[in-house]
Amino acid sequence: MALARAADWLNVPRDHPFGPASLPYGSFSDVRHPAMRRVGVAIGDHVLDLSAAADRLLPGRAADFRSGCLDEFLAAGDGAWAQVRAEITTWLTEGRYRQAIEDLLVPAENVCMHLPFTVADYVDFYASEQHATNVGRLFRPDAEPLTPNWRHLPIAYHGRAGTVVVSGTPIQRPCGQIRPAGATAPAYQTCARLDFEAELGFVVGTPSVLGERVRAGQIAQHVFGVCLVNDWSARDIQGWEYVPLGPFLGKSFGTTISPWILPLAALEHARVRPPSLDTDLVSYLAEPGDWGLDIELTVTLNGHVVSRPPYSAMHWSPAQMLAHLTVNGASLRTGDLFASGTVSGPRPDQYGSLMEITRAGQEPLKLPDGSTRSWLEDGDEVVISATATGPDGMRIGLGDARGQIVPALPPNAG
Ligand code: CA
Repeated sequence: MALARAADWLNVPRDHPFGPASLPYGSFSDVRHPAMRRVGVAIGDHVLDLSAAADRLLPGRAADFRSGCLDEFLAAGDGAWAQVRAEITTWLTEGRYRQAIEDLLVPAENVCMHLPFTVADYVDFYASEQHATNVGRLFRPDAEPLTPNWRHLPIAYHGRAGTVVVSGTPIQRPCGQIRPAGATAPAYQTCARLDFEAELGFVVGTPSVLGERVRAGQIAQHVFGVCLVNDWSARDIQGWEYVPLGPFLGKSFGTTISPWILPLAALEHARVRPPSLDTDLVSYLAEPGDWGLDIELTVTLNGHVVSRPPYSAMHWSPAQMLAHLTVNGASLRTGDLFASGTVSGPRPDQYGSLMEITRAGQEPLKLPDGSTRSWLEDGDEVVISATATGPDGMRIGLGDARGQIVPALPPNAG
């Protein structure tokens, strides 16, 4: 499909990241009516109030948007997703709809964004070969960096759904059990090795039945869309607790997602073949289907670009992750969120975590203000943004996931 242009009266530049080929969904309130949450669609520098627009132009689907969050629309299924996207595209590209929607466009500077959906289960994968290799070398210097299972299945752990927060929410530095270098016993102290992880997240809409598998080829029927994820990580807590059952408190104190969910339908031009499909795989992971994604992430620390991780290098695609997480008959729920794991490319300026960029603090990062960082400091702000390949070679946007570190509640307080 070629790029449809926004209607002239909307004044959306052709290369705007939120042009008519993007149309991501979110939950917002107008700052003048903060208690009234609405479902919105980003278009240029405005947000279309879809809750109101559906009442006016698409009454048969209006109930899907009345709650002001995406839960009902996610559950409505892929037929509803396609219908609504087609309708919105028409409203925004054909001049005759101006009168019907012009008063429903809210300037982006006047909106407050909320968590777009109720997060059901949260799973985090580990799908970048570069990241898994880098971390393996740093956490286990005397062992093979990739564990024997890594090339055979997409490794993951279950995270904490209730602490997934929307972009802009402050992140409090955690405290916990930490074993200082050279010590034999742990202490209860403030995290000194706070890190970010730049990832993509995949949002499940249509549930599945317990006991039934979902095939990789069914991804578009179950996964509604994609967001950005920052899996904040306390490396000193993680390093002491993670053997043998994996990350727990070193990750669960907060996970930031972007406020906009980009529909999978917007990514048809971004699909690429994941490297794993050229290896020997068990049958449920070997199903053909190019669901790797040409999405480039950008990570900034206090406004300075520190990395540009490419998602196209990821070993496992979200379709393979979906097949794997249901292969035992585990069911999907509306609102399930599965994240990709840190996105890291082969070059140091493509690493998706500070741990990799600074080699666990051994080579501190220099910032333009003359300061250095081995790990995140209080007051630091990390912003992850991304664009994907769209129609006609354009880039379409996913928005951003931002978070600022605030000081810990000291371990001896409260
Ligand atoms: Ca992670």
